[in-house]
Amino acid sequence: MTIALAATTAAPAEPVTAGPAEPAARVLTGDRPTGRLHLGHYFGTLANRVRLQKGGADLFVVIADFQVLTDRDVADDLPRYVEELLLDYLAVGIDPDRATIFTHSSVPALNQLLLPFLSLVSVAELRRNPTVKDEINHSRQSSVSGLMFTYPAHQAADILFCKAGLVPVGQDQLPHLEITRTIARRFNDRYPATGSPVFPEPEALLSAAPLLLGTDGTKMSKSRDNAISLAADADETARLIRGAKTDADRHITYDPERRPEVASLLLLASLCLDREPAVLAEEIGSGGAAALKRCVTEAVNGFLAPIRARRAELARDPGHLRAVLRAGNERADAVAEATLDEVRAAMSSRY
Ligand code: ATP
Ligand code: MG
Repeated sequence: MTIALAATTAAPAEPVTAGPAEPAARVLTGDRPTGRLHLGHYFGTLANRVRLQKGGADLFVVIADFQVLTDRDVADDLPRYVEELLLDYLAVGIDPDRATIFTHSSVPALNQLLLPFLSLVSVAELRRNPTVKDEINHSRQSSVSGLMFTYPAHQAADILFCKAGLVPVGQDQLPHLEITRTIARRFNDRYPATGSPVFPEPEALLSAAPLLLGTDGTKMSKSRDNAISLAADADETARLIRGAKTDADRHITYDPERRPEVASLLLLASLCLDREPAVLAEEIGSGGAAALKRCVTEAVNGFLAPIRARRAELARDPGHLRAVLRAGNERADAVAEATLDEVRAAMSSRY
């Protein structure tokens, strides 16, 4: 099966359904267990995951627990955050019976790929990564750890262990995808396998909202106190949107270049309502930021109401969540062992 999507596509495209004799295309993506998922996740990647899975893709979702340590000393309360992520995934419609949801610390063979992968990138390449630079700037750490610089290579292991061809992500992930593609290409060149190359060169899939801004006007992030989480209640959502940064111009227009904060709010309402942001801007017109924020609040709360209800229902059965993760970890482990075996064969280190 092929999924007819170009690399870094800006608009959602329809996946092609798998034919009966063809294996489903593999898609991998994931999140750090650092908090509840937010609207940036939903419109940046979660909606694409659900859509691709419905189109027949074999979806892998990594809960990147080791990566929590890139910008903090200890990973606080991991079991709770892992559970929050599982709740968010299932609430937005990822089908746990068909998806492989796993924690990468539970899959030793995946982590073993990191060693050969690190030998395939230079320190200069790791240092140049603009997303890592941005994350260092926002980090509250007094020094930068080796993990911070090397986590994009670890992410290559997350993607390549299952030979994913497509990775639905937000814009901040594009430099990491480039490193993954480089690692795959260099591995295949340096260690030619008999038959087809060991790794595919995966492509990023961007959505129509690849960089949703948070209430402070910078990238909405779990760790920056600027996010509207999917699980927030209606009142908290209203309060957060009321406090969102806008600009001094009272007349609302849709101008992403010159008015990024206002445009991001309009985009958010437009995604929730399935209407054009420019049309919403015209309707609000001279109503100013207050009318814009009322519109966004109603749109977000209306859109999230069924997701929130499903999430509350799922939270009553933590045993189910644990079973989903156990099954995902087992499947990921088997896939990773098989890939590591191929890697050993290609590197002549099968003894
Ligand atoms: P943290 O602050 O802990 O790093 P985060 O909010 O950046 O959390 P991640 O777990 O790092 O979330 O990212 C998970 C996925 O969600 C990635 O594919 C990322 O590109 C995407 N994503 C995160 N924030 C946004 C956003 N504001 N807009 C679009 N996509 C996003
Ligand atoms: Mg992040």
